[in-house]
Amino acid sequence: MPSRESCTLTDEKQEKVLHETLEQLRYDNSFIRALPADPESRNNLRQVHGACFSRIAPSPVPDPRLIAASPEVAEILGLSPEASRDPAFVEVLSGNRTVQGMAPFAACYGGHQFGNWAGQLGDGRAITLGEVITPNDERWELQLKGAGRTPYSRSADGRAVMRSSVREFLCSEAMHHLGVPTTRALSLVSTGAEVVRDMFYSGRPAPEPGAIVCRVAPSFIRFGNFELLAARGDAELLRKLTDYTIDRHYPWLREDDQGDLYVRFLDEVCQRTARMIVEWMRVGFVHGVMNTDNMSILGLTIDYGPYGWLDDFDPGWTPNTTDAEMRRYCYGNQPRIAHWNLLQLANALHPLVGSAAPMESVLLNYGRRLAQGQQQMMASKLGLRSFRPDSGEDGNQASPDLTLVNDLLQLLHRVETDMTLFYRALANLDVGGHHRVDSDDGPLLAVLRQAYYSPDALAPDYQRDMAAWLRRYVQRLQEDGEGNHERRAGMNAVNPLYVPRNYLAQLAIDQAEQGDGSRLHDLLDVLRHPYEEQAGREAYAARRPDWARDRPGCSMLSCSS
Ligand code: AMP
Ligand code: MG
Repeated sequence: MPSRESCTLTDEKQEKVLHETLEQLRYDNSFIRALPADPESRNNLRQVHGACFSRIAPSPVPDPRLIAASPEVAEILGLSPEASRDPAFVEVLSGNRTVQGMAPFAACYGGHQFGNWAGQLGDGRAITLGEVITPNDERWELQLKGAGRTPYSRSADGRAVMRSSVREFLCSEAMHHLGVPTTRALSLVSTGAEVVRDMFYSGRPAPEPGAIVCRVAPSFIRFGNFELLAARGDAELLRKLTDYTIDRHYPWLREDDQGDLYVRFLDEVCQRTARMIVEWMRVGFVHGVMNTDNMSILGLTIDYGPYGWLDDFDPGWTPNTTDAEMRRYCYGNQPRIAHWNLLQLANALHPLVGSAAPMESVLLNYGRRLAQGQQQMMASKLGLRSFRPDSGEDGNQASPDLTLVNDLLQLLHRVETDMTLFYRALANLDVGGHHRVDSDDGPLLAVLRQAYYSPDALAPDYQRDMAAWLRRYVQRLQEDGEGNHERRAGMNAVNPLYVPRNYLAQLAIDQAEQGDGSRLHDLLDVLRHPYEEQAGREAYAARRPDWARDRPGCSMLSCSS
């Protein structure tokens, strides 16, 4: 007879039992149960009306091999780390077989692309396998990207290349570890089949290795799912989809009877989107294609395509060559574009609400929340205890903290300054009393040296202005009265040292294309602890090397993936 104590231990242990195979997981496919299916079962291109999805199986691939897997995502799903060794794991996650409980489908949605209504788009190469109910009773959807043609593939092949799949796998997981809301990735599989792509639309298509990522999120519903139904005047299905989304993902909205349910839903999506954007701005992430079909209704970063990370700080930078001229989706535009996208969502929900005024006020709130979020975020990056929004006695003077921040952003852009390294360096500033106006600028600036791409070529007027800013900053910190040590720890907790710089991802891609995932594995391992200095891994924090300045994949990316 076991003692009481060992009984408890056994119980706890049992709670943590992890499954060895995908087959043992519990599936509950609520999306396809609650919403109407496309009655057509052939896999031909078509406009799908009156339905939210089409049932479609992944197309088999010749020689699937596992390149990488995320043990953290496996654990969330209730899978043991060994599960990825099961031969069935790679079979299922390459789309070569499904297990009992899965019910694959491609979702039907539309979207605004680069500001224009594009009509029906849909999952052209993504196929959801099913929704897993985890041991913690959470719901996570498994979706293969690159799994073959669907009724929504339009003129494309339904496949994905290795380079874009490595990037999606890596960044999904890195963003999670950075604390940015994101979809996750369970696995990366090479298919053994080649995919032909014209990487820069230059008329020179070439074969590339194909791959499939298994993405994981509570849901992949996008703004575009709602927009398409509204554009087609299908108010009944629009209501059904919205009710489903609320019941499944925002159930607490039903408990509150203050105001219109759908307005509160919009408000919630606005709040989450604002938070996501603030986090992107904090870490220097540029999504690159913020079309409304790439905006998650859960406020998650979704659809990693030609995204990039700021090396040198430049609000006008976009990694996406397709957007090089307009720069619609450049770093500095992201908050504004998210607002524009939310406006499209509000328009789509309008038939359910019936009046524009309450939605307009929700959108105004988005602007306010975003501004506040950005201010707090910048205060934390600078190690200020809080952002002081006070605007002088008459209320129309700019807040000194706002001026301090804006002046810094201008300085960061004036000479090539690595954004990531700058904030880490700034945390090392000694806020003793010795930064007097008449003291030498040299020691003050020395702390920032590693952040500059050309530290020996800083113009004298730049040096003078930066030193003057640093003195104002030190004075501001002294008003807070926090010690160097505490301030540094606080700053280092929000300013990452390691981010998936474009060139680092490219190095991992070069190797993965040869079937070797070890570099990707090492990089992801560093990115698991992006805020901690890791001895021996300094190279991963280095500035972008010169060779990477203009290399495709390191500074320029296209939508061709
Ligand atoms: P994206 O720009 O990747 O968000 O894709 C926009 C639309 O094009 C979505 O409907 C995708 O599913 C579809 N799409 C992108 N690449 C492919 C592809 N290789 N095959 C089929 N559809 C694709
Ligand atoms: Mg997309």
